[in-house]
Amino acid sequence: MRPYSTNLADERLIIVVSGPGGVGKGTIVDALVQRDPNLWLSRSWTTRERRDGEAENAYVFVSAGDFESHISRGGFLEWTEFLGNYYGTPRPDERNDPGAPDIVLEIELDGAQQVKQQYPQAILIFVLPPSRAEQERRLRGRGDPDDKVFARLRKAEKEEPIGRELADYLVVNDELERTVDEMINIVNRERAR
Ligand code: 5GP
Repeated sequence: MRPYSTNLADERLIIVVSGPGGVGKGTIVDALVQRDPNLWLSRSWTTRERRDGEAENAYVFVSAGDFESHISRGGFLEWTEFLGNYYGTPRPDERNDPGAPDIVLEIELDGAQQVKQQYPQAILIFVLPPSRAEQERRLRGRGDPDDKVFARLRKAEKEEPIGRELADYLVVNDELERTVDEMINIVNRERAR
């Protein structure tokens, strides 16, 4: 294992995975950290309700009050409001950081921009759906109501050009295994730099 420190400005690689809702980011990052023991996936906080069938540890699910207190304590590396809920990355510390050297954040675009501003060395991988129709199918498959699906699609369409512009790497999630292979290659290339 490579050495690590809870200070993100040190040698750690910060991999930010972003992209529109329904693109499969969650599945990709789960597979990515399974494949590479040097990667640690940061667990976000959210005020969104847990979906039916969603893992209890998918997020730290908190109330808006708890989230806001954490903001005022300076407890987030970045946070944002996304379609009516708060989402944020807690600052890595000894309690929540098990110590894999390189960190993976799976966050939306506003958060990705905040991380890039603080840590210009962070690598932004922007994931694209193979098609809008496939993205819509995936969003519907999660059981969200129609208005939520449409809101997420509209937001995705608006943000895609910004994501393309900001990204260090663009990856099309056409087939999970292939996509994860491509991401592993990117991570290894960045480590070698
Ligand atoms: P969902 O509600 O589908 O789980 O997540 C909605 C969006 O919030 C997704 O684009 C997801 O990547 C993003 N997200 C999850 N955690 C965080 C976080 O800690 N910070 C930010 N900025 N976005 C997050």
